[in-house]
Amino acid sequence: MQEIFRHGQGLRRKVLVVDDELINRQLLGMIVGQEHDVIYAENGREALRQIRKHQETLSLVLLDLLMPEMDGYEVLRTMQTDAELRRIPIIVLTSEKDAEVESLHLGASDFIPKPYDMPEVIMARIDRSIELAEDSMTIREAEDDPLTGLYNKDFFLHYARQHDRYEPETPMDAIVLNVNRFHLINELYGRSLGDELLRAMAEKIHLLLNGTSGLACRSDSDTFYLYLPHREDYESALMSSLAAIDGTLGHAKITIRAGIYPNVDKSVDLEQRFDRANLACSRLRGNYLTACAYYDTRLHDQELCAERLIGEVDAALSEKQFKVFYQPKYHIQGDRPVLASAEALIRWFHPVHGMISPGVFIPLFEENGLISRLDHYVWQEAAVQIHRWKDQYGLTIPVSVNVSRVDIFDPNLEQELREIMLVNRLSPEEYLLEITESAYTDHSSQIIDTVARLREMGFRVEMDDFGSGYSSLNMLTALPIDALKLDMGFIRNIAKTEKDFRMVELMLDIARFLSVPVIAEGVETEEQYQLLKGAGCDIIQGYYFSKPLPPEEFNRLIEKELSERNS
Ligand code: C2E
Ligand code: CA
Ligand code: CA
Repeated sequence: MQEIFRHGQGLRRKVLVVDDELINRQLLGMIVGQEHDVIYAENGREALRQIRKHQETLSLVLLDLLMPEMDGYEVLRTMQTDAELRRIPIIVLTSEKDAEVESLHLGASDFIPKPYDMPEVIMARIDRSIELAEDSMTIREAEDDPLTGLYNKDFFLHYARQHDRYEPETPMDAIVLNVNRFHLINELYGRSLGDELLRAMAEKIHLLLNGTSGLACRSDSDTFYLYLPHREDYESALMSSLAAIDGTLGHAKITIRAGIYPNVDKSVDLEQRFDRANLACSRLRGNYLTACAYYDTRLHDQELCAERLIGEVDAALSEKQFKVFYQPKYHIQGDRPVLASAEALIRWFHPVHGMISPGVFIPLFEENGLISRLDHYVWQEAAVQIHRWKDQYGLTIPVSVNVSRVDIFDPNLEQELREIMLVNRLSPEEYLLEITESAYTDHSSQIIDTVARLREMGFRVEMDDFGSGYSSLNMLTALPIDALKLDMGFIRNIAKTEKDFRMVELMLDIARFLSVPVIAEGVETEEQYQLLKGAGCDIIQGYYFSKPLPPEEFNRLIEKELSERNS
């Protein structure tokens, strides 16, 4: 008998004995009391009062069915409707077979027949019920994400696979949800608001799953996975309920993006299905609305193409398929525009696809770190080119190169740049570094340190795509930078929309406040040029002057510049 009492041996549990007859209470109390602490109730009403009072610590209820005031059935029914009380196991005390069946239907975990003539059997049943209930509690706790009450990722994947096994014919959707700029919400409004937001999302997800065989988990911080039977109306169901979260949490502007892989192909590995939903979701990055995107055949083709391109980088580098083009930047505040510097922009001349724009392959290579190899190649080429122009024309055309966020974390960054300068006999003033604003907002302290060190070495650093990130004015004053490069998006409509022009003026004000020059890129028309000049913008880059050119063609711009200087 000893080994059956796995739980009974050590810890004493609290057990409630409910019976209207004193003699029964005493009898059970004597049996159970050897192992556990016993409390008593003599009718259903009193029992519920005791259960509520001890709900945190109560391990078991022994419940008589026929009692005055409130009977045992009523107690069972009441406990079943309460999520907290439902976890407490109940053993029914009865002398009728019919009652046993009915009480099991009502959620009782076992029954003990009257009279109580076999104490060992009674104790064994009590301990088995307690043990089962506690084991299932432990499992439930491990399955759940404590913040949201959804599954954790491991259990989610486990149950999703089980779902596939039991219902292979049911068409399913894989969905990934992600909060736009969650780190900023945490930073600006505090973690507790961040937590509240995640709970609110979980609540909406619970509603969506309700009545379906679907399941969901929080996969990590602000990412949720949903796996549910296919439906067509996410726009109206999921998306509108997610959009409704904005406005419920103080002033924080909350938007959520969803990637949906509808009617998943079940021959594809489960986690890969969520990678696909995630890919669709990531297409919405930078578009700060509550919105959803679908994984479809187009995206699938793109994905295949991307995989292929990634596999071809090594060969492409060694076969010199990558070429560096140069786009001039002009000082515009003098009598005539003066060639100031150039930006190095990479191009891929692919033997099959022809010229591939960096807008296509750079984002792919940023995801897997390949970008730093490409960047090094460009840095090296640009240095050689500066040197070549120096030899050819006797003057320095400083070249700016793009530094990806991956490079910022490269511990050898400074050493590598130093070597490039050394080998090509250049000084850092002849070389400019462009770092995109969003890199600053994502990893502010790391990047501030790195940029400070680069500037100590003598490099000038331009903040690229300024205005597209989320720098606060406070942060800007702390940032070590030498120039702001306005994001092209601001320039596009300055000649058409008064508001856009005001915006640019505002940014010029910020730059003046920071005492740094402003570079406007993407300037295409005379009108834009005149407006920017009038507003005091210092440097301009754009098709208005020239597209990015291969070095041989760029030579003509230098020659033109030299002849104008001499005339
Ligand atoms: P970016 O650094 O903002 O570069 C400016 C982009 O604007 C270039 O596109 C340039 O060709 C384009 N552009 C210049 N003037 C105009 C204009 O007047 N109108 C319009 N519509 N566009 C203009 P590109 O060369 O396609 O490069 C796109 C992005 O790819 C770059 O944006 C940069 O983020 C990235 N990229 C290019 N080369 C490199 C590189 O060597 N390394 C890294 N890490 N990124 C690079
Ligand atoms: Ca740039
Ligand atoms: Ca830019």
